[in-house]
Amino acid sequence: MKIGVYPGTFDPITHGHTDIIRRSLRLFDKVIVAVAAPSPSKHPLFDLTERVEMVRLVTKDLARVEVAAFDGLLVQYVKQCGAQAVIRGLRAISDFEYEFQMALLNRKLDDTIETVFLMPSEEYSYLTSSIIKEVARLEGPVTDFLHPEVATRLCQRLRRQSP
Ligand code: ADP
Repeated sequence: MKIGVYPGTFDPITHGHTDIIRRSLRLFDKVIVAVAAPSPSKHPLFDLTERVEMVRLVTKDLARVEVAAFDGLLVQYVKQCGAQAVIRGLRAISDFEYEFQMALLNRKLDDTIETVFLMPSEEYSYLTSSIIKEVARLEGPVTDFLHPEVATRLCQRLRRQSP
């Protein structure tokens, strides 16, 4: 059985992420979406439980998708899951340098695990969770980019945060 792990912050999950999940289901029998716990360099708007919940909600009709929270070294987690590959999305050249570095580092840590890069549909190729949070903060429309429930939660969260 071919298993891929798709790790990320998913703060929150966008249609760009979902596009990558759907594409990866063409290559893998099972896809584990691994939602990363906060780290010193990342301070997500939503806590881990909420991010996991939203990914579960968005992927509930995709039978071969599992969602889990993860912490620690990615390659160790991938091994623990019995998976063979890490899945990452590549939007633009600007993603490449960081992704290249991570893929080579992970290969150095465990040579048996491959990183697979998938490109989203062009309509999502400029989409990042950060940009969507910025649009929502400015009260712009985000419904084209997010699952309706995720859009509602994002607006509620930002409303609660504003003075
Ligand atoms: P991370 O903090 O690991 O970068 P993200 O949630 O921002 O977490 O992204 C997780 C993965 O999803 C990354 O590989 C990223 O490139 C990819 N991704 C995010 N948004 C998109 C998008 N719009 N299209 C394709 N891939 C995307």
